[in-house]
Amino acid sequence: MSAKSYKFWFVVGSQELYGPEVLETVAARSAEMAAELSRVLPYPLEYKVTAKSNRQITEIVKEANYDDSCAGIITWCHTFSPSKMWINGLANLQKPYCHLATQYNLEIPNDEIDMDFMNLNQAAHGDREHGFIAARLRMPRKVVAGYWKDEKVHRRLADWMKAAVGAAVSKEMKVMRFGDNMREVAVTEGDKVETQIKLGWQVNTWAVGDLVKEMNAVTDAEIDALMAEYTASYDIATENIDAIKYQAREEIAIKKMMDREGCMAFSNTFQDLYGMEQLPGLASQHLMAKGYGYGGEGDWKVAALTAIMKAMGEKGNGASAFMEDYTYHLVQGSEYSLGAHMLEVCPSLAATKPRIETHHLGIGMNEKDPARLVFEGKEGDAIVASLIDMGGRMRLIVQDIVCVKPIMTMPNLPVARVMWRAMPDLTTGVECWITAGGAHHTVLSYDVSAEQMRDWAKMMDIEFVHITKDTTPEKLEEELFLKDLAWKLK
Ligand code: MN
Repeated sequence: MSAKSYKFWFVVGSQELYGPEVLETVAARSAEMAAELSRVLPYPLEYKVTAKSNRQITEIVKEANYDDSCAGIITWCHTFSPSKMWINGLANLQKPYCHLATQYNLEIPNDEIDMDFMNLNQAAHGDREHGFIAARLRMPRKVVAGYWKDEKVHRRLADWMKAAVGAAVSKEMKVMRFGDNMREVAVTEGDKVETQIKLGWQVNTWAVGDLVKEMNAVTDAEIDALMAEYTASYDIATENIDAIKYQAREEIAIKKMMDREGCMAFSNTFQDLYGMEQLPGLASQHLMAKGYGYGGEGDWKVAALTAIMKAMGEKGNGASAFMEDYTYHLVQGSEYSLGAHMLEVCPSLAATKPRIETHHLGIGMNEKDPARLVFEGKEGDAIVASLIDMGGRMRLIVQDIVCVKPIMTMPNLPVARVMWRAMPDLTTGVECWITAGGAHHTVLSYDVSAEQMRDWAKMMDIEFVHITKDTTPEKLEEELFLKDLAWKLK
């Protein structure tokens, strides 16, 4: 998949009052800061303008809104910038917005400081005026304060940029559905019109028969090329090469259909495999490794969220994957969740080289044993995220988790598996998750943080619930009650 080359714009506030000399210094320093920050941030930061009038600010916002490569704006006030100048522009801003409250100099220079210095370096003053107007306009935004050369500031700006890229990807998201949602399941359902209004997702359906037709047109040469890729990436641990080739045929056909339509995610269901011999296992897993999102049992919400969180991760395709809560280990002192899926876990989670295996799959209409990747998940801090439809609004629930090396080998389990401890502890964490209405399907991510998901939810204007090491069921219940009231009024 070709990741778009996104950029961010640096818009610096000032006013004419200062005279040309000060304004030239502000412009030169702002350009220098943008260039230096571009070297350490994951996306370029382009210095655009030292804005000195209502007209200039309105113009730059219009430009940002209509430039597809602009994923967001970062503002800062080197000097004072009267914020009524910003109202007309900011009221029309359609891009993610971050206010960097910083200053050019690190220190107050004891000998040098005089009133000229104070007038030039008054971000402490200007950034407060700037913050007021965004608060007054009730604008969703991120405020990052600190010295612009500080590593922590870089990390927070980088995280925000990735969340903003997630917002840009969301607005262009197209999901290909093969088959409907699994019969009778509630949590995988959702209002596709409301979702498109809020999140931009275009969720539409294609016939399984069309996919089968596409599969039949795949050539042996195409299959051989993909088999070479499988062999290079994975250990072949089955003699059933035909099953692997069949998965390659499925993968090529699904990819062709998605690319033709510009889709970045897909869903299917084991209840509708008419004309297919195997549920796509390895096929779906390898597509996820390439950055496509996937959701099982028709879960288009988790499919799109997987693609977005992958795009928000390292190098635009991070370690994020469709996941499902399966079973618990409830022994006191070593309480864990075991996550997996019937086949489709993304190898970006793998601790070691995945093996391709074939096993019988009882569920669904599999005529043949599907090939799938089997592996253990990595250790480390992670999150699970679930997007649910509350009726009238979407709620994003994120829980902090710690993944561990699975404490048993489970030699008869024929699927990839991840073991983790939810925060604040397994049973309290489960109580909180269930109270909030979190699904059994999630996106598990090692490299997208809860703070990034909160920023993303803010950009998309949806409800956000975070279950942390400090969450208690009592506090959470109260939070959900108050948020429910607030979102009904909004
Ligand atoms: Mn499932």
